[in-house]
Amino acid sequence: MNVILFGPPGAGKGTQAVFIVDNYGIPQVSTGDLLRAAIKEQLPLGLKAKSIMDAGGLVPDDVVMGIVEERLAQSDCTSGFVLDGFPRTIAQADALNQLLTKMGKRIDCVVSLEIANSEIVQRISGRRTCSACGKGYHIRNAPPQREGVCDACGGSLRQRDDDSEAAVQNRLSVYDEQTSPLKEYYRSIGILKVVDGSAAILDIQKQIGDILEGCKCDHP
Ligand code: ADP
Ligand code: ZN
Repeated sequence: MNVILFGPPGAGKGTQAVFIVDNYGIPQVSTGDLLRAAIKEQLPLGLKAKSIMDAGGLVPDDVVMGIVEERLAQSDCTSGFVLDGFPRTIAQADALNQLLTKMGKRIDCVVSLEIANSEIVQRISGRRTCSACGKGYHIRNAPPQREGVCDACGGSLRQRDDDSEAAVQNRLSVYDEQTSPLKEYYRSIGILKVVDGSAAILDIQKQIGDILEGCKCDHP
């Protein structure tokens, strides 16, 4: 099953991707995570992406397509994958179609997490990530047991460089202008499924579970 998890920054794509990975045994392919890994490893493409990401802009399509193509070719993606944060432009969606056709695959369903911009800003400002293992927290909605410390590995929690208020505003306008048109793109081919992203985490999981069960019957 090949799924796209779609939605604005802060909609909870990362949180729900973990649920899908745990329950459906398919890997999460997050372009944001892949780019942050490239920055950490000081790869040339990471260095190129860093300043764009910190300002909340979009990394060029060809750079993103390169990392996605490489990732989807890995053996753990054979029986399916959940794309998180990709595609983000119509050009990326077209390039993805071409890539999947070449691989004899296609997207089975697009789960769109919908949430108001006002709630997004609140959510993102409370977001923290473990600097060692990458586990996500929220100071109000999903706090660690000890403030600033990861429950899973004891690493220190930090705020992402692009979670400053100015960068968040920029990411939201980039989303409205360049990414949200993809909803119509996928709706028109009949594979868009809308979920209320402001609901409780467990309720959203339930909705996504129902959607994916239906999708599994159509595309085993
Ligand atoms: P969020 O969804 O919260 O904005 P991500 O981790 O998905 O966080 O993305 C962080 C940043 O990485 C984006 O603001 C952008 O700069 C870059 N990025 C991630 N995915 C893409 C993509 N598909 N195309 C272009 N840039 C991307
Ligand atoms: Zn950790």
